[in-house]
Amino acid sequence: MTQQEIFVQLLIIGAGPAGLAAASAALQAGVRIVILDENPAPGGQIWRGGEMNWKDARAHAMWQQILSSQLVQYLPATRIVALQAQTLVAEQDDQVLTIHWEKLILCSGAREILLPFPGWTIPGVMGAGGLQALVKAGASLQGKRVVIAGSGPLLLAAAQTAQQAGARVLLIAEDQPWSALCRFFWQLVRQQRAKAWQALGLFWSLRYVRYRACSTVLAASGQQRLQQVRLRQGQQEIELGCDVLACAYGLTPNLELAHTLKCALTEGKVQVDAQQMTSVRNIWAAGEVTGIGGVEQALIQGHIAGLAATAQAIPEAARRVQRQALAFARLLQTSFSLRAGLRALCKPDTLVCRCEDVSAARLQQHADWRTAKLVTRAGMGPCQGRICGTACQFLYGWEAPQLRQPVFPAKTSTLAALAAGSLKETE
Ligand SMILES: Cc1cc2nc3c(=O)[nH]c(=O)nc-3n(C[C@H](O)[C@H](O)[C@H](O)COP(=O)(O)OP(=O)(O)OC[C@H]3O[C@@H](n4cnc5c(N)ncnc54)[C@H](O)[C@@H]3O)c2cc1C
Repeated sequence: MTQQEIFVQLLIIGAGPAGLAAASAALQAGVRIVILDENPAPGGQIWRGGEMNWKDARAHAMWQQILSSQLVQYLPATRIVALQAQTLVAEQDDQVLTIHWEKLILCSGAREILLPFPGWTIPGVMGAGGLQALVKAGASLQGKRVVIAGSGPLLLAAAQTAQQAGARVLLIAEDQPWSALCRFFWQLVRQQRAKAWQALGLFWSLRYVRYRACSTVLAASGQQRLQQVRLRQGQQEIELGCDVLACAYGLTPNLELAHTLKCALTEGKVQVDAQQMTSVRNIWAAGEVTGIGGVEQALIQGHIAGLAATAQAIPEAARRVQRQALAFARLLQTSFSLRAGLRALCKPDTLVCRCEDVSAARLQQHADWRTAKLVTRAGMGPCQGRICGTACQFLYGWEAPQLRQPVFPAKTSTLAALAAGSLKETE
């Protein structure tokens, strides 16, 4: 295993919309930048798969600017193992990288919330974002019968992606009632006209797909793989035969790195000021790690963070867009917060930790995440509690899992280098 040491003025973690916007703004100040991402291609979640897949001109423009600069070093497929103030250790192929940074912009985005219900671990059941990721990676859904269920705008985006990949979308089952959806849309029209048009465009592209409000998945079943889903629609229960069930119950910020860096968190997101600065000196945060608000929020926050971290002035027009993006994030949060009744979907024999096969009945016996983890091994599998820890927060009101370094599973040779306290030796 080889080792490399990098010294940089500005480190940006995450090459999604926020990270690309931050780099693009910071470049104007002529600083040396490293952009690090665990994905093999830039673009984050919405622009997943790299530039060949991008349809948004903003992504191309930022990426071209970054590529053409001698000042930027892009580190794809790089996994952070440990970090502390001013230093970070990461793995890339068979290299251990030690990066010394002066300033850091954290753009680590968000992940899906997956809620357990009977049958959610059967092959064919996945997150709506997971379905999009599969399609963006080239998977075909030609002729597949797809049901999309959960709550929020991601349902429509996932349905559109599935349809474009050749699927027959049988139903979009939205958990919220029509009254809440109409209130949301009315607020969009009042505050965010462009987004209202965007939503109408999405609905139009899905005009032949059944869209039901007050509709909730109760169970998925099948031999070997998914064959059928049971849903509650108002007072009725229905069963539908299908090949894929994609569920979306919203997103949750990826806080592991912010937590390790001791950045203050509020309401499950990184706390930032109007300059996108966190509570820790020389660390800024932008995009969905600071709250779920969509791509426009990620872009404007990234832009402001890039300017602020390189001591450039922030134009008033940018601040206006930032405030508008924040208003949209608040609207999303109030309109699509998880309904307490969704807890009842998880039955005693439902697996909550699918890595370690731990059922709800075994978890319920414990008072908090720490005890449950010690006794049942929940959260000790490959996802390290990222899925089941979030589910337990919702199901039992437990605090989020506390992480220790290494923040992600690492190769033994990297751990050996870390333990030795020196990353200069090879082998
Ligand atoms: C699964 C999913 C699907 C989505 N689909 C849509 C959609 O179809 N339409 C839509 O409008 N919005 C969608 N969104 C929301 C959309 O992703 C955001 O609005 C936007 O991409 C946020 O940009 P960001 O830069 O903040 O975060 P992201 O786009 O999430 O980018 C964060 C980047 O940080 C990297 N990263 C995270 N942690 C680490 C780490 N520890 N080490 C190294 N790199 C790290 C990730 O690999 C990622 O590339 C989706 C979100 C998710 C989670």
